[in-house]
Amino acid sequence: MRKNTLEGLKDQLNPTSKISIISHKNPDGDALGSSLALHLFLKQLEIPSQVIMPNTYPDFLKWLPNNQDILCYDSKEAECKARLEASDFIFTLDFNHLNRVGSLGDFLRDLKATFVMIDHHQEPSDYADYMLVNTQIASTCELVYEFITSQYPNTSVSADVASCLYTGIMTDTGSFRFPSTTSETHRIIANLIDAGADNSQIHQHIYDNNNISRLHLLGVALNNLKVVEELNTAYIFLSQEDLNLNHFKKGDTEGFVNYGLSIKGIKFAVIFIENKAENIIKISLRSIGDFNVNAFARKHFSGGGHNNAAGGKSDLDLKSTLAEFETTLKHYKEDLL
Ligand code: 5GP
Ligand code: MN
Repeated sequence: MRKNTLEGLKDQLNPTSKISIISHKNPDGDALGSSLALHLFLKQLEIPSQVIMPNTYPDFLKWLPNNQDILCYDSKEAECKARLEASDFIFTLDFNHLNRVGSLGDFLRDLKATFVMIDHHQEPSDYADYMLVNTQIASTCELVYEFITSQYPNTSVSADVASCLYTGIMTDTGSFRFPSTTSETHRIIANLIDAGADNSQIHQHIYDNNNISRLHLLGVALNNLKVVEELNTAYIFLSQEDLNLNHFKKGDTEGFVNYGLSIKGIKFAVIFIENKAENIIKISLRSIGDFNVNAFARKHFSGGGHNNAAGGKSDLDLKSTLAEFETTLKHYKEDLL
């Protein structure tokens, strides 16, 4: 295992450095917020960088400052590869295994650049030369804030950097309610508001951005919600047909899984979403308390994440995936009581 330190990195970064910043596939608020915050902070130091995402991101994140600077690999493959190939430094943010960037992973593995990992997921792999990894921290944005304030104590962050960091902390803590939210999280948030993050407007951008189709899709999801009472588990499924009928767009199902957890007594909630284009069932898992969904997702659904929030996939069809899930679940009776 490499050393978990950024020591010596700062001295190598200067306006002539060629830097790429990349995050995971299906980027969320923390992935985009941390990447854009780092990009904009480096810009404050007159150090240029290029943000690259494996694929596109939901509309409710398209207001983020400078998101138009991002190159998405799914639409600009050659340009992304050329940028990455020419990079001296590649910052990988909010993930810790190269397979999390989809088909770009094998390409990254062969590059000679210096890799920097800033992340808060469990069990990091061994590809990075510099690491700032802490699985106790709620968001990668908090770690980018730590990077900035520890390495550049005399540079205050701009309002745009503050807004990006605020967004990732807010989304990865479930609006400051998950147990990973600490007094330090709130101190950082207070500093970001002082630096110019407009907290109320950011909440509005993210949460008051529904259209009627998304609410209809939520209606279908709630109708499809099943409770396995004796195992304190609730799960939702959405077929490709459900998605098509309700004009599904990327991001529309964000947060749906949490409705299962809002039922009194439920400790484990899952959503299964059919994706015919990729021929998989994408799975999101959440828990309250000790039930470790990271371990569950790793063992049964080729995934991972955190103790209380993880993701994965199934290569079976929707019906078989649900049947297998119900069978598997029975082996966890003691953990779920
Ligand atoms: P979500 O369910 O919101 O997509 O993801 C929950 C958490 O699990 C996030 O931290 C995300 O990065 C992680 N995650 C989601 N899908 C996968 C996956 O397929 N593999 C791994 N290792 N982590 C995932
Ligand atoms: Mn994150």
